[in-house]
Amino acid sequence: MRLELERRILEIVKQRSRNGMIQSELWGILGVDNREGSRAVLSLVRKGLIRRDQIIYKGRKTYVLKYTPEKLERVNLKINLNPVVKIPCFICKELHKCGTGGFFNPYKCGLLTYFLLSNSEE
Ligand code: SF4
Repeated sequence: MRLELERRILEIVKQRSRNGMIQSELWGILGVDNREGSRAVLSLVRKGLIRRDQIIYKGRKTYVLKYTPEKLERVNLKINLNPVVKIPCFICKELHKCGTGGFFNPYKCGLLTYFLLSNSEE
């Protein structure tokens, strides 16, 4: 439910990315109350998908929400697949036939057993 609300908020804020979206006007568009909407907005801010700047609008304090796609581009993931690609099943010709109870069986497989024993911590 909240993820759906976040998705809708992000969609609206993206569409108005040039001037931003006034937060207090967002609740009327979405048909949600201030509390529910604010939680979803704060979640998007924490994820770095939108920015929230305080402003005075029609004499009241509120926020302008702006889409920040540059935050997404800064994400830098370092994943080392080396330990995973050494698992014999990844290159095994019998993988499509392998399963518990069958002739090729991970519980009885020598290659897998050897891999697990040689890569265990103890
Ligand atoms: S458990 Fe053994 S037989 Fe089964 S896919 Fe892995 S390496 Fe192949």
